[in-house]
Amino acid sequence: MPHDSAPSVSPAILVIRNIGLLLSGDVTRPILDADTIRIENGRIIAIGRAKDVDTSGATSLIDAHGTALAPGLIDSHVHPVAGDWTPRQNQLGWIDSCLHGGVTTMISAGEVHTPGRPRDIVGLKAMAITAQRSFAAFRPSGVKVLAGAPVIEPGMEESDFAELAKAGVTLLGEVGLGGVKDGPTAKRMVAWARKYGMNSTIHTGGPSIPGSGLIGADIVLEADTDVVGHINGGHTALPDSEIRCICEGCKRGLEIVHNGNERAALFALRTAREMGDLARVILGTDSPAGSGVQPLGILRMISMLSALGDVPAEVAICFATGNTARLRNLDCGLIDVGHAADFVFLDKAQHSAGKSLLHSIALGDLPGVGMTVIDGVVKSGRSRNTPPATAVPEVKQ
Ligand SMILES: [Zn+2]
Repeated sequence: MPHDSAPSVSPAILVIRNIGLLLSGDVTRPILDADTIRIENGRIIAIGRAKDVDTSGATSLIDAHGTALAPGLIDSHVHPVAGDWTPRQNQLGWIDSCLHGGVTTMISAGEVHTPGRPRDIVGLKAMAITAQRSFAAFRPSGVKVLAGAPVIEPGMEESDFAELAKAGVTLLGEVGLGGVKDGPTAKRMVAWARKYGMNSTIHTGGPSIPGSGLIGADIVLEADTDVVGHINGGHTALPDSEIRCICEGCKRGLEIVHNGNERAALFALRTAREMGDLARVILGTDSPAGSGVQPLGILRMISMLSALGDVPAEVAICFATGNTARLRNLDCGLIDVGHAADFVFLDKAQHSAGKSLLHSIALGDLPGVGMTVIDGVVKSGRSRNTPPATAVPEVKQ
C-alpha cells in the first residue's frame, strides 16, 4: 500500500458540545434538536443530545459555549484565477477574507478573469484542467475552491466534453461568457456536459462588463443549465416578467448573487416562495467582479433576504448551504451523518437589537462568526471581518 494513502491507525475524532442552536442546512427541517456532534476523519458520524452521542476517544474537543452551528457557507458563484490572488481588482487574500465571512466552499463560474485567457478549444480545455488541478491541490486558507469551469465556445464537440470529464472537470462556467450565446448551441453543449456528469450554469441578464453579453429568459430556458446563474443579473437584471418566466419555466436552481440587482433578487425570491420552491434558491457573490470582493457577501445576502424578503433566518441559511449542495452535488452543506464536517459557528453580533441570533438576522443585522471548521479541522477563530460575535466557541483540547 502506498504510504500516502495508508489509513491512520487511530482516527482523528472531533467532538463538538454545548451547541446552542443546530442549523441543519436542510430547508425542509432547518433546525435540529441536538447539541452535540461527533466527527471522525472529517466526516459527521453522530448528531444528537449529549447523553445520546458517543463522545469517547476525542482527539479534539470544541465547546460551542451555546453558539449556533451551521454548515459552512457555500458561495455558488465566484471567479477565481490563481491561488488567493485575483487580477480583477488586483487583490491578494480575498479567499481568506471570505473564510472569515463563514464561507468554506466556493464554486467557480469560470476562470474568466485569467489575463489572456484562451478562447480556442484546446486552450480553454487546457486552462480548465489546469484550474481544476491547481485548486484541488491547493486550498487557500483551507477553503474548498471547486474550479476548472470551462466557458463553452462554438465548435466544441461531444468528444471535448467527454475528454474534460475524463480529466476530472466537473463544472461548466457561465454559458454566454464565451462565443456561444444562442439557445440551440447552448442546449446541445449543456446536454453533452450533463451526460458526462458536469454541473452547469449560465449568465442571466445584461452584460456585466464590456465584452460580456445579454442572455434573456428564452435562451436561459432553452440552454437548461443546472443552475440559472445570477437570476438577479450581474448587475443588469432582466425585466420582472422574464424572471418570473424563468422561475415558472424550469425546475433548475435559482441563483441570487450579491453583485446583482437587489430589487430583482427580492422579486425572484418572492416568486420562488409563491411557487413553494424555496428549495431551489441558492446564493453566490459573483466576486471578484466590477463590484469587487465581498468577504461578508453571503452573510449579507442571508440577512438581506431574511429581513426584506420575509424568509425565516434559518431558511435563508439553507439557501447558502443545503440547497446549494443538493443542486451542485456536493458532500458538504448539510449537518447529517456521512457529510463533510464543514461548519461555521455563529452568534448574535454584540449590541444587535435582536433577541437571538435568528432574530438579529431577521432584523437585517449580520451575525458574528466565531469559528470555522473544514473537514473536521479548525481553520479560523473569531472572525476579523464580521461584527464581533457575542459568544465564541473554544477549542478545549
Ligand atoms: Zn455572469
